Amino acid sequence: MIYIIGSGIAGLSAAISLKMSNYPVTVITKRVQGGSSYESRGGIAAATAPNDSPELHAQDTIAVGDGLCDVKSVDYFTREALEAIETLEKWGFEFDKDLRLEAGHSRRRVHHRMDSTGMFLTNFLLKLATKLGINIVEDRVMALKVRGNVVKGFITTGGVSIDDADSVILATGGYAYLWSYTSNPRDNTGDGVALAFRAGAVVGDLEFVQFHPTVTVIDGESFLLTETLRGEGAVLINDKGERFAFKYHEKGELAPRDVLSRAIYNEYRLGRRVYMDLKPIDNFEIKFPSVNEFLRRHGLTRNDLIPVVPGAHYSIGGVRVNIRGESTIRGLYAIGEVANTGLHGANRLASNSLLEALVMGINMPLHIGEDWEGPDLNDGEVLNVKLPSGSREMGLEEIRRLNWDYLGIIRDGDELSRLISIYEDVYLTGIDEWSNAALISYLTAKAALMRKESRGSHYRADYPSRDDARFRRRIYFRMMD
Ligand code: FAD
Repeated sequence: MIYIIGSGIAGLSAAISLKMSNYPVTVITKRVQGGSSYESRGGIAAATAPNDSPELHAQDTIAVGDGLCDVKSVDYFTREALEAIETLEKWGFEFDKDLRLEAGHSRRRVHHRMDSTGMFLTNFLLKLATKLGINIVEDRVMALKVRGNVVKGFITTGGVSIDDADSVILATGGYAYLWSYTSNPRDNTGDGVALAFRAGAVVGDLEFVQFHPTVTVIDGESFLLTETLRGEGAVLINDKGERFAFKYHEKGELAPRDVLSRAIYNEYRLGRRVYMDLKPIDNFEIKFPSVNEFLRRHGLTRNDLIPVVPGAHYSIGGVRVNIRGESTIRGLYAIGEVANTGLHGANRLASNSLLEALVMGINMPLHIGEDWEGPDLNDGEVLNVKLPSGSREMGLEEIRRLNWDYLGIIRDGDELSRLISIYEDVYLTGIDEWSNAALISYLTAKAALMRKESRGSHYRADYPSRDDARFRRRIYFRMMD
């Protein structure tokens, strides 16, 4: 039996594709409609337009990735994108006819379904999985079983214990919920990365956490104001009425996410407030029904200025794998946001993550029987980490606040060192969600401290420039026995 952990777009597309190729699969998931997939809005990037090509898509991906993209991964995913879209359509999923433009893309190539692509697609995949008779169980995997560097199974909080898995596919999503301001749902606390790390797998690029520039929090409800709003004409202004984004980047509101996030963060540091003005968008209600509905729920309209803050959005780091999803442990795959393939480099091009999740999921039957290769680790340093023996328990809210304060959009060596020493007192060797959350935060802080430069989504106030001579390398961690 092949066990798939997680029921986001990566997990479901893998389950369906494997089942259609007659592999026996079971999906175990914390929450069936959990994870970022259900919340994702903008869409999926693929160079299907006549004026576009996978090469152009690859160029855009590499430009945003700021010197750390794995070129082999970029070529693979931008090429496979076309077939992934075709496969979804063959399965019966309908995209809207137009392609949208998002920041960093030189062509209109974002395939979408209104402004709730993830919800439509996840519901569609769930329905198809049910039709195919795929067993989906709600439970939380809390530890993997590995012997002689081969995965054998796992245990769950619901008391399930598996010892005879043919393969285990982690599709558990990322860890961007670990910051106070976030676009992510509560499910994304980094469980999968922690499970793999504790089992001995190599994890990498953890310091690269992408902050989305425009999250709004109204009456306590967080809501992502998708990039396509800006692609379709929305502008940002501060409370002095200035359209400030051009002060920070020539592309203004369509600047790369990290630049725009820092620009907004900086406006706040200067004591200003930042708003999105939706009035310039044509046919707003038709193009963005879910944003319109969110505003309506809170008694607002498109004519109001909507307050925005940057929030943790996407974890680039994760379980190091090759393009097939193979980790450093035989039989253990990681796909989607839990995986680190090098596609995104130091910064993710918008709409490339659903693409990565789908390509890895859909292509799983092509790889599952192949000779095991595992990832190439020659592009970085593998550091063996001995976990400190702290005993303090720490709640998730405290972890999120600490990360926002000390491991956020603008980082600094002294603050990172302080954060690491706080986590050294915490019980990092447990298997509860909060212990996993603290472990991932600790490792992320360590990587952020080691990377004494600014690159992509990682910005150090004390090292504001990119340093290719020393840091055009990945930082990998493996647990010391
Ligand atoms: P997820 O969808 O996060 O699913 C993870 C699954 O794992 C969940 O089912 C969860 O319950 C389960 N799980 C976790 N831990 C365990 C455990 N221990 N045991 C069992 N199950 C577990 N990307 C784009 O490309 N385009 C977009 O337009 C876009 N918009 C976005 C908008 C928002 C608001 C957000 C938050 C993200 C957006 N992203 C977008 C990013 C994208 O949605 C994610 O990268 C992608 O959905 C990840 O899919 P996944 O299947 O890997 O993980």
